[in-house]
Amino acid sequence: MKRAAVVGAGTMGNGIAHVFAQHGWEVALIDSAPAALDRATATIKGNLERQVKKGTLPAEAPAQILGRIRTGAKLDAAAPAEIVIEAASENPAVKFSLFEQLDRIAAPDAILASNTSSISITEIAAHTRRPEQVIGMHFMNPVPVMQLVEVIRGHATSDAATATVMEVARALGKTPVEVNDYPGFVSNRVLMPMINEAIFCVMEGVATPESIDTVMKLGMAHPMGPLALADFIGLDVCLAILEVLQRGLGDDKYRAAPLLRKMVAAGYLGRKSGRGFYDYQQKREP
Ligand code: NAD
Repeated sequence: MKRAAVVGAGTMGNGIAHVFAQHGWEVALIDSAPAALDRATATIKGNLERQVKKGTLPAEAPAQILGRIRTGAKLDAAAPAEIVIEAASENPAVKFSLFEQLDRIAAPDAILASNTSSISITEIAAHTRRPEQVIGMHFMNPVPVMQLVEVIRGHATSDAATATVMEVARALGKTPVEVNDYPGFVSNRVLMPMINEAIFCVMEGVATPESIDTVMKLGMAHPMGPLALADFIGLDVCLAILEVLQRGLGDDKYRAAPLLRKMVAAGYLGRKSGRGFYDYQQKREP
């Protein structure tokens, strides 16, 4: 396999295209917003140049790697791909429609993967006529740096498709871990309740955000405290994932802290809005 298509050229899509092209794949990078494609190309170029400066890539590599990435707005560019990785916006209607179209466009034996953080792979697969070839390939941000790929088997995903995707992830220099499709998979099912509990601690006045993050960093050897991580992920994204967990697993132990709801309502979304548990405008950062 050497031809991939990546649909969605935002934060995750550009990183996924970067990693595939770096490992010798021809990549079609597709986004409905032309500005996103320009930004993605600039980001990939900048990140490749940083790798050259660090000595992890030879000086001639960025031009060759960029030469393997073709950008465009049309989904038809996914037709020759052996694997398609969808990394479009986290909206079920968007993903269901994309998979219906990709099912028509992609070769019959192509694998259709989604990078979704929380939408059911089984449900996405049900919008295609090839549910056994639909799978989750959950890369972590930033993709060129992070080692893990959580490989998510939908209810109908075949052993053969799973084995192929595990192999592809290894060929990209990543460490894949196979999990089954339940809300939040493993990553967010374990991470989000911890973040939520840290938010309850702030709300109940147990300790300040700085103190909570220090306990988790120095006491539990976490590289980043849960509240700094929540700001990095986006508080609106954390709230949406907690709602998926509460609804999908039918258990109120996942109910979002009222303080989280209040902060999202106030527009305190974390780094991207300049303010969350920390203030990024005043540089009062963790
Ligand atoms: P993003 O908003 O940065 O990028 C999404 C891109 O998809 C945008 O450029 C948008 O123009 C494009 N898009 C939307 N609808 C489209 C369509 N119909 N056809 C083609 N392009 C379309 O989002 P992101 O943070 O890169 O997230 C993408 C996916 O990855 C989501 O499913 C998200 O849950 C998942 N994810 C995100 C992170 C993260 O840390 N950001 C981590 C793991 C997984």
